[in-house]
Amino acid sequence: MDNSHNNPDKSPKEDGKKPKSLITSLIITAVIILVFTMVYNMIVSSRYTEATYTQFAQEMEKGNLAEVEIRNDRIIYLTKDQATLPAGQQKAYYTGIPLGADTLALGNQLLDMGVEVVDYPIQEDNSTLLLILYYVVMFGGVFFLMRMITKRMSGDGIMGGMGASKAKVYMEKQTGVTFKDVAGQDEAKESLQEIIDFLHNPQKYADIGAKLPKGALLVGSPGTGKTLLAKAVAGEANVPFFSISGSDFVEMFVGVGASRVRDLFQQAAKVAPCIIFIDEIDAVGRSRDSRYGSNSEQEQTLNQLLGEIDGFDSSKGIVCLAATNRPEILDKALLRPGRFDRRIIVDRPNLQGRLDTLKVHTRKIKLAEDVDLRKIAQATAGAVGADLANLVNEAALRAVRHKRKAVNQEDLMVSFETVIAGTEKKNTVLTDMEKRIVAYHEVGHALVAALENHSQPVSKITIVPHTTGALGYTMQMPEEEKYLHTLQELQTELRTLVGGRAAEEVVFGVQTTGAANDIQRATALAKNMVAQYGMSKALGLMAPGSVSHQYLETQTYLDCSQETAALVDREVQKMLSTALEQVKELLRQHRSLLDEVSLYLLSKETITGEELMTYVNREGETTPAAQETPETSENQESSEA
Ligand code: ADP
Ligand code: ZN
Repeated sequence: MDNSHNNPDKSPKEDGKKPKSLITSLIITAVIILVFTMVYNMIVSSRYTEATYTQFAQEMEKGNLAEVEIRNDRIIYLTKDQATLPAGQQKAYYTGIPLGADTLALGNQLLDMGVEVVDYPIQEDNSTLLLILYYVVMFGGVFFLMRMITKRMSGDGIMGGMGASKAKVYMEKQTGVTFKDVAGQDEAKESLQEIIDFLHNPQKYADIGAKLPKGALLVGSPGTGKTLLAKAVAGEANVPFFSISGSDFVEMFVGVGASRVRDLFQQAAKVAPCIIFIDEIDAVGRSRDSRYGSNSEQEQTLNQLLGEIDGFDSSKGIVCLAATNRPEILDKALLRPGRFDRRIIVDRPNLQGRLDTLKVHTRKIKLAEDVDLRKIAQATAGAVGADLANLVNEAALRAVRHKRKAVNQEDLMVSFETVIAGTEKKNTVLTDMEKRIVAYHEVGHALVAALENHSQPVSKITIVPHTTGALGYTMQMPEEEKYLHTLQELQTELRTLVGGRAAEEVVFGVQTTGAANDIQRATALAKNMVAQYGMSKALGLMAPGSVSHQYLETQTYLDCSQETAALVDREVQKMLSTALEQVKELLRQHRSLLDEVSLYLLSKETITGEELMTYVNREGETTPAAQETPETSENQESSEA
């Protein structure tokens, strides 16, 4: 989903680190050669037995030598009695050469004696020079190899040592992304426009004496396009883009994170004007009080970050953008004026935003005539930009799989289901009984939604299992975006959610695990109604709950006395059981409709909202006495089950 960190230009950080790593490489090369020489000597000595020069001289005098090899630093010799042994058992000796000895004369003397002289040294005088040359070449070779290896290991790798920057800093000279690539998010773009203007011409601001914000915080759910926006700012301003993730700063060793922060800002200063983007800043910027758990490494990194932000001269044109989806846990110091004091909300897109996002992502894709992006946008309420990008790509892949030249509406609808509900899992085998329960369960949801006049129409019901574990689902398609919900609407939603379980109980007299997710959602909704929206009688207008992780998922946590908490629980329970009873009653009244639709769904596996509505509408016309039969048919069903 997030491909923002792919294909970065090669990071320029080697420049900053060269002197240090060069010295390390030199030292390591020297050590390697030293070790190599020592090992070589050890091997040599293990192959030859050491002898004194006297012994050598005696053997020579006795004419006992078979072979002599004169090296620069030693003489290796084989005696006649050893030479007669088989090659594997021969024992050669070595001895040093006395300083100033004339090896040339020695060689000649040996030749005269008829001894075989192997590997006779070329020119005694050059040998030291040769030796030096030999070491230089070897040193160069090893050094070159080492540099190659360290480069390979991306950046400084093992050679850089612990304190050096291993963080994945990515610099893109040109992001190639502009505001045109970011759909919707008009408010965010507007807030960022000033920063772009500033980067274009920092001097203009400096002349007046205006100080521009050094940093801005992009706040929003994952996948809403925060990284994309930051890149677009760099693209619009035509400046380099540095990006790093907050979690890259956090390391096991104290001090590493801080040194990385220092590095990052040093590099940025070299190419200013530029943008520094810190993704997931909450990883470093977590509040330093212990509530969310912090440690000294993180604290030190944060301090360094604060120092760097205060330290850099904004007139040079460095702007620091950071992204987070948990602004509430950030350290207050980070949000102080002069630091990340601007907060730019990157919202989940609304209908128009989703439509625009789909348009952006289908720009380069061949679309068939029948494609209606608006329908897809309507169906994807709650989806973020990344989901939509994914959806379009899946659709394109599907079109290719089906050997078509263009993407059609069906591709898009199917991928929508893939993205929302996981790939269709054709091989989940349900027993007939399970299938019946699932069908009734889903129709239970759908009927409540269709029968209650406040409710959104149902667009599709299916009992084809999906990989996410949903055995079937009912898809509701809102006609228009809603930001305000009335009590009645929420109650209907609650009833729709418990509709599945109610159908199970009414028809089969069983309770199944299939309703688990429904129950969770219904409970969460009821809890919100009681603890946040002031919609319960017992508590009235009081809101003991507050929202945590606003941008991740809306989850209420209670901040009140235990008695109130217990009261909230009781109210929630009451709300849910009332809803369940109401729905059971409703389904009993419409029992024959429930049976009809469920059987139809069982035979077709997937039915549309229109098909459902024809059944619902027909019921109103033809069987006004629907209420007469519930008892009998229920008994029938139970006996069958
Ligand atoms: P975030 O940083 O908020 O988690 P990203 O910026 O990484 O999200 O978004 C991931 C991908 O989703 C982007 O690369 C882009 O393809 C797509 N995307 C997200 N929001 C939008 C948008 N508003 N317009 C177009 N594409 C978007
Ligand atoms: Zn359900």
